[in-house]
Amino acid sequence: AKARGRQRVQHFEHPRMQGAPDRLQLEASLSQALAQNELQLHYQPQIQLCDGRLIGAEALLRWHSTELGPIAPQRFISVAEDMGLIHEIGAWLLRQTAQQLAAWDQAGQRLPRLAVNLSILQLEDQDLVDRITGLLEQYRLAPERIELELTESLLMQQAGQSTATLDALRRLGVRLAIDDFGTGYSSLAYLHRLPLHQLKIDRSFVDPLPGDPHAQAIAQAVIALGDSLSLEVLAEGVETAEQAAWLRDAGCTLAQGYRYSRPLAPDAFAAQWLQHRDA
Ligand code: C2E
Ligand code: CA
Ligand code: CA
Ligand code: CA
Repeated sequence: AKARGRQRVQHFEHPRMQGAPDRLQLEASLSQALAQNELQLHYQPQIQLCDGRLIGAEALLRWHSTELGPIAPQRFISVAEDMGLIHEIGAWLLRQTAQQLAAWDQAGQRLPRLAVNLSILQLEDQDLVDRITGLLEQYRLAPERIELELTESLLMQQAGQSTATLDALRRLGVRLAIDDFGTGYSSLAYLHRLPLHQLKIDRSFVDPLPGDPHAQAIAQAVIALGDSLSLEVLAEGVETAEQAAWLRDAGCTLAQGYRYSRPLAPDAFAAQWLQHRDA
């Protein structure tokens, strides 16, 4: 048994680098990622379709593991959720975004608001509301400068359980967006009761625009729903001028995507998108 234990340790110390890392390698490296400063946030601008003006940004998590190289968030976030590590990562992420907003404020590079992706497990976290309240106070941020993105499918599964947290967040004044909208099964009555501010049209419906009638119908339906519930509608994954023009003409007001910018490291984002005080 002792010999086998030693072999396992050796396996972790010298992970085979060919091919995609396996689950155990991911877990071992991920549990060290925070302590080793391997996590970073990148920022993707969100713009107003009528004039191209910056209205905010979405923070997207990046992990460059020293052992495994860069790992896509879609791969490691589910692992972090299964390991229970998402609470720690989520807490780091919230502090990081508040800190970044405040740092840009101080440098005269004000970003109007910052959207953060929240795992549904974080929404179940008893400390979430207190944590955010504390950060807003510490970094002197108006609550509406933070927007929390929750995916539609997860929100609907949790209907009921998380309502108290959502209500508390509403009272606090932070903004709430539904991510990947159109891919889940929202009940209209439930949507109406949620303290929401924004619907994000999923990239899978933006991609086939402007030519595809099915995608057109979905996009139009989301825009109409947003209008009738007085919610902002933001199209994600906008890559071409034709998509942007179609969305603008259809009444969508906000967009995000490679047409405007890829997600950028903080310095590059500030240099390209945030005005300097004495510029
Ligand atoms: P998402 O929230 O839907 O994020 C949008 C994804 O689309 C990002 O991928 C972004 O880089 C990509 N994207 C943006 N514009 C375009 C475009 O014009 N074309 C194409 N093809 N792609 C575009 P990313 O950064 O790989 O993130 C993937 C997913 O991982 C996110 O989807 C989100 O569900 C999750 N994620 C990322 N960061 C976080 C985080 O901090 N916390 C949590 N809980 N989840 C996160
Ligand atoms: Ca998102
Ligand atoms: Ca999305
Ligand atoms: Ca998506």
